[in-house]
Amino acid sequence: KTIFNNIELLPPDSLFNIKQRLANDSRSVKVDLGIGAYRDDTGKPWVLPSVREAEKLIQEDPSYNHEYLGIAGLPTLTQGAARVLLGEDSPALREGRVVSVQSLSGTGALHIAAKFISKFCGDKLIYLSDPTWANHKAIFETQGLKTANYAYWNAASKSLDLEGYLRDIKAAPNGSVFVVHACAHNPTGLDPSKDEWSSILDTLAAKEHIVLFDSAYQGFASGSLDEDAYALRLGLKKLAPVTPVFVCQSFAKNVGMYGERVGCFHLVLPQQDAAVDQKAVASAISSQLARITRSELSNPPAYGAKIVSKILNTPELTAQWYKDMITMSSRIHKMRIALRDHLVKLGTPGNWDHIVGQTGMFSYTGLSPQMVERLEKEHAVYLVNSGRASIAGLNSGNVEYVARAINEVVR
Ligand code: PMP
Repeated sequence: KTIFNNIELLPPDSLFNIKQRLANDSRSVKVDLGIGAYRDDTGKPWVLPSVREAEKLIQEDPSYNHEYLGIAGLPTLTQGAARVLLGEDSPALREGRVVSVQSLSGTGALHIAAKFISKFCGDKLIYLSDPTWANHKAIFETQGLKTANYAYWNAASKSLDLEGYLRDIKAAPNGSVFVVHACAHNPTGLDPSKDEWSSILDTLAAKEHIVLFDSAYQGFASGSLDEDAYALRLGLKKLAPVTPVFVCQSFAKNVGMYGERVGCFHLVLPQQDAAVDQKAVASAISSQLARITRSELSNPPAYGAKIVSKILNTPELTAQWYKDMITMSSRIHKMRIALRDHLVKLGTPGNWDHIVGQTGMFSYTGLSPQMVERLEKEHAVYLVNSGRASIAGLNSGNVEYVARAINEVVR
């Protein structure tokens, strides 16, 4: 009678389901260390002062409206976004080698990249770090692409498995796609050092792999938007002479507009000899990217794009945003120290220095799935079962409680 009767029921998304369980939890003290979203020291979502000011300016503007954007999005956003990530003095920007389109946040940028790769890059394997953000695999595989892992995290030493990483880059078929986290690696909170980046990028370049930089946390690692673009900018220097570079950029976290879905996809073309009409190549790529967007969303959402564009193109607001980034990243860093110090004071078995050494929003705590389950059941402290904790969920009112809970489940 109906073709839908035998549809398989899928389990709920493990990350978003935490939110549901939290809502259903009637205990008075609950702590959300699940989703990577910034909270202030009272545990509330934070609207950045730069965003508030930009919203005011936009709404006061007599030309304020809600018209459609063009298919490629708001040009002042995509250009400003490219500058903040690639750098004001980027040779690729100067030489017109960057094709940019607006996307539905970072996820949409990755989706465009996956579609583009499946259409124009042949049968390439997509290499993801082990571990990585859970959605990476789903996004690429939904486009029919095959994924593989490269070594990243050494669980025993809670450090980078550089040897394994380089080995896997060398072992991959030439011209494979490597997805790398531009900074603040999710879930481990562990980024390569500058020296390590240098050898990783040299090895990627030698194999002519196509690198996709996923930049979802620019500013959260060091507090500086420029410092956090270090790997990407070095990557462009080392890779772009030979191979194209994909860049997927999210503004969800660093402007704190998670639900507005502001992002960009940038394709940086390699330097080519004078015989190639670079402009024509860029135009052809733009037209293909436009076709992808047109068939899927017609045109990207405007409101968040206008806000971010206003911030990027108004010097006082840009300066305020840089300050907001420091406010967020330094509060998270303070919470890392507080959590570690409480655990040490409680004499919790094990070494907890990695919580302070890790960077960005997350700590890969090393807590086992059983410990995570007990944290939730017995203490109403929620995190994903990989042991990844969103440190932004800690504040001066709950950090000691969380440390006591961890202390109890670890013993
Ligand atoms: N990449 C990584 C590594 C992420 O952690 C996230 C968000 N959790 C994204 C991309 C995309 O986020 P959004 O679609 O909200 O911009």
